[in-house]
Amino acid sequence: MKVFKGRKMLSLKDIIHTLESSAPPAFQESYDNSGLQVGDPEMEIRGVLISLDVSEEVLDEALQLGYNLVLSHHPVIFSGLKSITGKSQVERIVSKALRNDLAIYSGHTNFDAVEHGVNATMAGKLGLKELKILDPLKGHLKKLVVFVPGEHLEGVRSAIFEAGAGHIGAYDSCSFSGEGKGSFRGLEGSDPYVGRPGALHQEPETRMETVVPAYLASKVVRAMIKAHPYEEVAYDLYALENSYEKAGSGMFGVLDQPMEEEMFLNLLKDRFGLRLIRHSALLGKPVRKVALCGGSGSFLLQKAIASGADVFVTGDMKYHQFFEADGSIVVMDIGHYESEQFTRELFYNLITKKFPKFAVRLSEIITNPIKYY
Ligand SMILES: [Zn+2]
Repeated sequence: MKVFKGRKMLSLKDIIHTLESSAPPAFQESYDNSGLQVGDPEMEIRGVLISLDVSEEVLDEALQLGYNLVLSHHPVIFSGLKSITGKSQVERIVSKALRNDLAIYSGHTNFDAVEHGVNATMAGKLGLKELKILDPLKGHLKKLVVFVPGEHLEGVRSAIFEAGAGHIGAYDSCSFSGEGKGSFRGLEGSDPYVGRPGALHQEPETRMETVVPAYLASKVVRAMIKAHPYEEVAYDLYALENSYEKAGSGMFGVLDQPMEEEMFLNLLKDRFGLRLIRHSALLGKPVRKVALCGGSGSFLLQKAIASGADVFVTGDMKYHQFFEADGSIVVMDIGHYESEQFTRELFYNLITKKFPKFAVRLSEIITNPIKYY
């Protein structure tokens, strides 16, 4: 961190690195546009103002504070811009940010997806334990197989693990290896680790295999090649059908003590500061297992029912979707904004933990566009 005239400065890319190490952009949904919306990664940041949404008022608040980064959950640029003339709210926000050298960064569905993200923050407010992802990501795991001469196995294996491979559930350093024989003949210009160029060679090798999250695959392969003694490393990297249990949509967990449905509704009201909750018919049984999804979670209702949860807490449920609860679960719609409000604390804690003295504040503006009368 640099200090200019008594003020602490960070480069925007340091802050982005902190955010994206916690929630890799690769986890965002295909329709999403998380990431840097406006700004130059090299610019120096004087302070960060955190908001769920970006509005012109939020930009004004940042300017008044002398801050030049607005960090939001919902992206301001979502479906692309064809002009910046000020005819829409999004265009006015972008134009105002550019005119005032304000950067805007948004961490959206990648923060929904990670196991320590939006949903874990919600679950934490309710004191839920034994948290699990409700609908884990698919297509985010790869299998890495590499062939290593025996004496180098440990070195190559630890390099692979250190780079992030080998995690399965609550275990790390997971791998399998078996002995075999590799063959190769170095061609002209080669410099084989054993044998001579032009001569067919057979070498005892170990086939080692492990799993790696897709977003870490190139990092792991680089580390593996660096630790491997061969000039040309023989390895295979292939896609797996397995779910990636550490990221996905929604979450479920259990309360310490089962409670009556009315008591749980009151707990929700209290912890989330709610005026009202829209819910499906109460079932007259205690609530122990709770499924939840910050924001618009209606697409997860069937998964919530299948998880055996007693209630499903989310926002943006439509009239007909309440029928789908069908006596199996109690749907509790607490509002989109209300369900995600603590995402601001999540961002705040992430940045202040890494840069304890840096200027970071939560916006005082309630950006919820929905009002209650
Ligand atoms: Zn949202």
